[in-house]
Amino acid sequence: CGIVGILGREPVAPALVEALKRLEYRGYDSAGLATLEKGRLTRVRASGKLRNLEDKLAAAPLSGLVGIAHTRWATHGRPTEANAHPHASAGLAVVHNGIIENFRELREELSAKGHVFATETDSEAVAHLVAEERRSGAGPREAVASALTRLHGAFALAFLFDGEEDLLIGARRGAPLAAGWGRDGVYLGSDALALAPFAHTIAYLEEGDHVVLTRDKITFYDAAGRETERRRQPLQAGA
Ligand code: GLU
Repeated sequence: CGIVGILGREPVAPALVEALKRLEYRGYDSAGLATLEKGRLTRVRASGKLRNLEDKLAAAPLSGLVGIAHTRWATHGRPTEANAHPHASAGLAVVHNGIIENFRELREELSAKGHVFATETDSEAVAHLVAEERRSGAGPREAVASALTRLHGAFALAFLFDGEEDLLIGARRGAPLAAGWGRDGVYLGSDALALAPFAHTIAYLEEGDHVVLTRDKITFYDAAGRETERRRQPLQAGA
């Protein structure tokens, strides 16, 4: 339902939660985030209100400088902690808004290749699909780009890769996603409202786009995989 990603210069978990709070009005049944702790993927998830996620984070604070976060409104699989996003596969985590229509077929195919599914969601297939591309030797962006060609349905996605402390990747088809530039980092958000406290400028991905974020640069790619520019617009603080 709601997606946020932050590549910052200070621990990002508090800002990720603040951004998720700004998306609460959309409704949700569970929430979660992933950061890189000393380079290693770490996930924290909770069913119910954001308060439950905050309690877990207070008990075991995260210090990673890059992360992704999600509020889920379940479409496939019960609203449990186990089904909450981010979903993980070898070397990566992903958050997803929308529905992957061909997830059963992907699940069968990827299970046959040895991927073990830990949730009842449609979204988890995306994690294993990208991991499978990585296993065949693709870099993070190439792996996402080729996974996108296999997905049917509507989605906004944000990916975090193990050991990649200067990288976030986003993608959209049929669900909104924006990239943002701020004083303290670069951002991904499914809703400009989530980014208003942090980003001064945003650019929406267009249909079929994916986007690669590093602290210095945001690079957009169109549905054909060609590098492209997207229109930047100023974002009012507190909008
Ligand atoms: N279809 C996904 C799920 O049920 C994502 C739902 C959402 O957009 O929050 O987990």
